[in-house]
Amino acid sequence: MTDTAHETNCLFCKIVNHSIKSDIVYEDDTYCVFKDINPQAPLHWLIIPKEHIDSLNELDSIEIAGGLLKLAAKLAKEQGYEKEGYRTVINCQAGAGQTVFHIHLHLLAGRSFHWPPG
Ligand code: AMP
Ligand code: ZN
Repeated sequence: MTDTAHETNCLFCKIVNHSIKSDIVYEDDTYCVFKDINPQAPLHWLIIPKEHIDSLNELDSIEIAGGLLKLAAKLAKEQGYEKEGYRTVINCQAGAGQTVFHIHLHLLAGRSFHWPPG
């Protein structure tokens, strides 16, 4: 699929392009971060690369992979969760709960989290 097709069809590409409304909390040239519309914790943000990548299966760039995690830690610390802790999740494919096929890292904080996650 071409980038143009993604812009047309992909929900998160539309958020990146500001063609649909979202609550964006951070963006730079490479990443966009916005509040999850159905939050599962007091802080529930989605960190995405602006480049369309369907899922973790297609993530070839070590730089983007590392950047997602570094940005999650930076934002979590800025929000005051360095000591209390926070959870990062990437669901890959429908069987793991992926519903939007533009890779995203969930950043969750502000409550206690259990293991196994279910
Ligand atoms: P996943 O199930 O891992 O693919 O995560 C997709 C996430 O996107 C879910 O937590 C949804 O609540 C969230 N979501 C879906 N549509 C929107 C939207 N328009 N703005 C913000 N978050 C969204
Ligand atoms: Zn996309």
